[in-house]
Amino acid sequence: MSLVSLDCDDRLGLYPLVFTKDRDKVIVGVPGRARFISTSSTGAEAIRLLQKGLSLREATDELRRTTGSDTISLRPLLRQAVSSGFVASVNGESLPEIPCDAHGWPVHLPVRLANGLFSRYSAFAYGLLIVFAAAVALTGGWRIPSLSEIVMGAKYAQLAWLTALIGLANSLKHELAHCAAAARAGVAARIGIGHRFVFPVIQADLTDLWTVAPARRYLVYSAGMLSDLAVLAAAVIVAWATAAAGRQNSLRLVLGVTFFVALSQIVWQFNAFVRTDVYFILTNAIGQRNLHSDALRAIAGVLKRCLPAGRGQRPRIVRASKAAWIYAGAAAAGYAICTLWTLYFVVTSLHTLAAPLTQPSGVGGRRPAIVLDASDRLAMGVGLACWGGLVGASVWREKTRKRVSLKLAEGEAF
Ligand SMILES: [Zn+2]
Repeated sequence: MSLVSLDCDDRLGLYPLVFTKDRDKVIVGVPGRARFISTSSTGAEAIRLLQKGLSLREATDELRRTTGSDTISLRPLLRQAVSSGFVASVNGESLPEIPCDAHGWPVHLPVRLANGLFSRYSAFAYGLLIVFAAAVALTGGWRIPSLSEIVMGAKYAQLAWLTALIGLANSLKHELAHCAAAARAGVAARIGIGHRFVFPVIQADLTDLWTVAPARRYLVYSAGMLSDLAVLAAAVIVAWATAAAGRQNSLRLVLGVTFFVALSQIVWQFNAFVRTDVYFILTNAIGQRNLHSDALRAIAGVLKRCLPAGRGQRPRIVRASKAAWIYAGAAAAGYAICTLWTLYFVVTSLHTLAAPLTQPSGVGGRRPAIVLDASDRLAMGVGLACWGGLVGASVWREKTRKRVSLKLAEGEAF
């Protein structure tokens, strides 16, 4: 961790910053480096003064003069600005560069392609596709296969590899849809691998979306789900069109898996407690950008209060908004359910993997519900290893992220 010391006559060199009005706040950041802070209009003005080359003392005096408040202090803002990597130099001396916070690989989609994908004509075509698919499904033109029909229609390994392949392709397409919508809004995006709680995910880093007005963010947030809806509709229409041509079991299996993969991708987005697309739509709508971290702080505060108090000092309850408390309740329930489900899934999978290949048969012999052969177990083993490896790598990368800390001269008037 680097340490920066500042006193009141220091002048800061800041990276080129972008200021975006967001309701009663101003979002200030360095686009391309995924570093943004939310501040008041006075805070934004303070950053502008520092950008003009005023020293910390001069900027503080100027702010106190223009606002008529003698209590204004730059200290909290400076802590945010330095730890967010806004400061490139102090008195002309360069600071060690903080690595870019954005995750993944940059995606450069041609703006013409992005504009075409989200044009009025495209919207009309997607609408037509979805209405047609709904008509096919509702009039009984194609019956959605049940999950058990799909599971019974294929070997475990075949189904596992097929689901993994289609799931991967659909996730990549989902994230590319976000990137295309971002490119249309003039924002750079990246695609990488991360995790949501215990689930590895392909994700689009859309941090630079903070440079766009709130109303223009909705299409970018929902583009992935809209693309899933289009895939789901296309699967229904192809299944309906090919069903008439006779029995095609393998195509039926592929379309059935595609349907459920696209559907589960949409349903997954409603797990707002792990910051999925619906979470960002929700926070943008209510204007609470840090709902998730506020809720986690609130949960941690409640847990601390439940622990035995040390020397009669009971931690005070964390102050959070009503929305953060409601979200905290939903998140606590969501995390608890996910933890139990994961434990159950891992234990039963390991139990299946450890069971002998040849099962005792005959009357009185105990057989597990599903007997898997060697290729099935290989698919399950690879799946579990990839899951653990990806989540582990993602957590490790977050923990080893470089940070900068700030040391401010005590007693100075800034
Ligand atoms: Zn998404």
